[in-house]
Formats: sequence, structure tokens, C-alpha cells
Amino acid sequence: MTDERIPGIDPSVPPSGDGCMECLAAQGWWFHLRRCAACGHIGCCDSSPAQHATRHAQESGHPFLTSFEPGEDWFWNISTDEYYDGPALAAPTSHPVSQPTPGPAGRVPADWEQQLH
Ligand SMILES: [Zn+2]
Ligand SMILES: [Zn+2]
Repeated sequence: MTDERIPGIDPSVPPSGDGCMECLAAQGWWFHLRRCAACGHIGCCDSSPAQHATRHAQESGHPFLTSFEPGEDWFWNISTDEYYDGPALAAPTSHPVSQPTPGPAGRVPADWEQQLH
């Protein structure tokens, strides 16, 4: 258990919140959510208009993103473009099931499907 640590993944850090930090600050919206496995930053996925998760990974040098969607537990490394198996991270490991996808509630435009990347 001790030496199974993967550099760039810190299982002890809780997620930053229920939604993309930057989208919430900018009144934006997201499709799916991703969690930085190093610092817990929650950002929006590459299909979302603003792609904050990947931008965070690039700007911070934190290569591992994991899904913050209920029932998903994969890790993705933006440096190698490969999926990985990773450790169980600090709870919660997804946004609340009651939270809509896309989200957040009330901010998603009617034509959101046309705005996906
Ligand atoms: Zn975002
Ligand atoms: Zn990070």
C-alpha cells in the first residue's frame, strides 16, 4: 500500500467542489466533469465549451485527470494520451447524482448539443 504511489496522483486530496471551478466563476456550463488527480481541481471535459480540466493539467503540470462522473473510475494522462488504472481517491469520487449532466442546473443553453467540442 505504501509504495504503490504513482507520481502525479495524490489519493488524499479531496475534490475542489461539485462543479468546474472556472465555469462556476464565469457563469459557464459543462458537459462532463474531470478531476485533477494531483490537487483535486474539478474542471470541465474536452467536450465542454471551455475545456478547463485539460487546461488546468497543461498549465499546472498535473498530468493525470480522472472522471468525476458517477460510476466512472478511469485515469487519463494528458502527457502520454493513455488510460491508466489508479488508486481510490478521497471522497467524493463524483459529483452528486442529483446534479444534472450537462450542468450546472439553470445555466445550460437550449442548444448545448451544438456547442460541444
Ligand atoms: Zn469549465
Ligand atoms: Zn491539479
